[in-house]
Amino acid sequence: MPIIGVLAIQGDFLEHQQVLARLGVDAPEIKLPSQLEDIDGLIIPGGESTTIVQLIDIYGFRQPLTERVRSGLPLWGTCAGMIVIADRLRDRRPDPLRLMDIDVSRNAFGRQIDSFEEDIALEGIEGPDFRAVFIRAPAVNLMGDSVKVLAKVRDGRPVAVRQDRMLATSFHPELTGDDRVHQLFVRMVENST
Ligand code: GLN
Repeated sequence: MPIIGVLAIQGDFLEHQQVLARLGVDAPEIKLPSQLEDIDGLIIPGGESTTIVQLIDIYGFRQPLTERVRSGLPLWGTCAGMIVIADRLRDRRPDPLRLMDIDVSRNAFGRQIDSFEEDIALEGIEGPDFRAVFIRAPAVNLMGDSVKVLAKVRDGRPVAVRQDRMLATSFHPELTGDDRVHQLFVRMVENST
């Protein structure tokens, strides 16, 4: 079984660790850049993207994390994590890591409806639609040719995308008790080693 680290500086990293534990995957908290050496994949959880990026810079994660991912470490960003790994944002803050070729808007679904749920068809997972929980969620506006859309919401906006060994979802699969997106990422990690 691979070791999938969860960036544990802010946000709902614990919920991801719980899902991975259910799947029998070792999921250490990543709190220091040196710990990036010991993992086969990394999840950046939801939370508050400006805070996460600030702490990434304060703890010295930006360069080693970028290098590890560019040399093939599988990476999954959920919600704020999608914002953190984006190439371009429509917002003035934060300064993202520019790892995935996507152009993202924060809080893309408006202030009135800042949380909602929708059943979405997600390419790469079997069975019924996935109940996606959106909490002040981002959405992808534009993407490069090497990025594949795995799921869209009813209004047509992409909310799950993949580029090589990187996955980004604007919803929170760790909150639903449905482990299929985590299983998808585990398979991506297994196939990369
Ligand atoms: N709106 C938050 C941000 O911009 C993300 C929300 C979330 O991760 N649930 O950072």
